Amino acid sequence: MRALLEAAGSFVREHIGSLPDQPSWDLDGFEQLVAAMREPPPEGGREIDEVLTRFGQAAAKSLNTAGPGYLAYIPGGGLFTAAIADLLADAVNRYVGLWFPAPALAQIEQTVVRWLEDLFDYPAEARGILTTGGSMANFSAIVAARHALLGEDFTAGTLYVTEHTHHSIAKAAFIAGIPARNVRAVPIDAGLRLDPDALAGMIAADRDAGLKPFFVVASLGTTNTGAVDPIDAIERVAHAHGLWLHADAAYGGFFQLTERGRRAFSGVERADSITLDPHKGMFLPYGTGALLVRHGAALRAAHSVGEGTAYLQDLAAEDELPNFTDYGPELSRDFRGLRVWLPLQLHGVAAFRDALDEKLDLTRFLYEGLLEIPDLEVPWEPELSIVAFRYRPGAPDADAPDADALNRRLLEAINASRRIFCSSTVVDGRFTLRACIVSHRTHRDRIAEALEIIRRAAKDLAG
Ligand SMILES: *Cc1c(COP(=O)(O)O)cnc(C)c1O
Repeated sequence: MRALLEAAGSFVREHIGSLPDQPSWDLDGFEQLVAAMREPPPEGGREIDEVLTRFGQAAAKSLNTAGPGYLAYIPGGGLFTAAIADLLADAVNRYVGLWFPAPALAQIEQTVVRWLEDLFDYPAEARGILTTGGSMANFSAIVAARHALLGEDFTAGTLYVTEHTHHSIAKAAFIAGIPARNVRAVPIDAGLRLDPDALAGMIAADRDAGLKPFFVVASLGTTNTGAVDPIDAIERVAHAHGLWLHADAAYGGFFQLTERGRRAFSGVERADSITLDPHKGMFLPYGTGALLVRHGAALRAAHSVGEGTAYLQDLAAEDELPNFTDYGPELSRDFRGLRVWLPLQLHGVAAFRDALDEKLDLTRFLYEGLLEIPDLEVPWEPELSIVAFRYRPGAPDADAPDADALNRRLLEAINASRRIFCSSTVVDGRFTLRACIVSHRTHRDRIAEALEIIRRAAKDLAG
């Protein structure tokens, strides 16, 4: 055990210590490496050093999602203290799906859930569950609303999103049995935010047509541009019509720790459910999401099969402590509460608040820098920590490639630096680049470098 811990420990120290100098991505020749990994397990065991070497090679052929230059999609963080928590959780391997087998450990997880509920000013009857991510949280939210508002006859159930709502909502609705045609895209305003008046009109029209509107999603930070839907106004429309309001705060939710985020999300405390992704805004490793439900009984009613499980009869009924298995689809699962709790214990809440404030400042810095680059347009002032931008060619001549092709080339040139890695999306039918700053390892030096890289790439494009 000591030798294994030492080998793994020095691998981790070396790896994390060199992150700022590692390329932001490297997929060159990955095919050979993939082929080498395609083999049955050995009959006898191998030495740790040999296995770690292969693992290290495999990990290096990738997008460097844990590095400071990763600005694509929604960065995934990867706090070292959470890795320690996972090691400890796996080593003690206690079961927390029900509270009785490890009550104080179940309380650790419940303490994390309660902390999240308090962060959003949720009442005592709120309940929550740590999930593997935002997708599962969105799924359980739809199932809870469906059960509460539609019962077993739900194929007329209709829900409301925008074209910028995360696709996991449509996927969750599909898995939950809601017909795809009943997922309605509500018009958006110039800031790409849901239009509450249009929502009200659509709900009324759908009711008149015999459908059953039941669920509306407000994104607290869309994945494309970080736009924050006007949740206060959406809440009034949703509740006036008896709908369940779900806040998808998977990307933006933890900005609630900051003053600016709390202001932007005002009204979220009246949402019926909230999706959060600690593996985004708390910088944790992939595999940690959360769902909070205001009236916790609704979550339980939709996920508990009550007394039908005789083989669990020795396990105590729910009292003070929740049996997490009654609040989500899983029975056996990892002790993900420790992955949130231990970093909070070691760093304190202020460290997270400060880091998130830093991300908002860095985004402002990036936005203002991009505005000064000739030939770039930065159409939306960032509300959180995503900046979308495009190359806008000057006078187009007949032979010039179209704007989308130029922007594709700009993205390639930026990423060819291997110092940062950006991704793209389509807004208004146009190819659009985006940078998302959510890694605890991204600081001002890297964003200053990013601005230089983008400036140079745009200049080269202009010829
Ligand atoms: C990331 C994200 C999701 C999906 O969460 P996963 O953790 O990837 O399953 C849902 N909604 C939004 C707004 C997101 O940013």
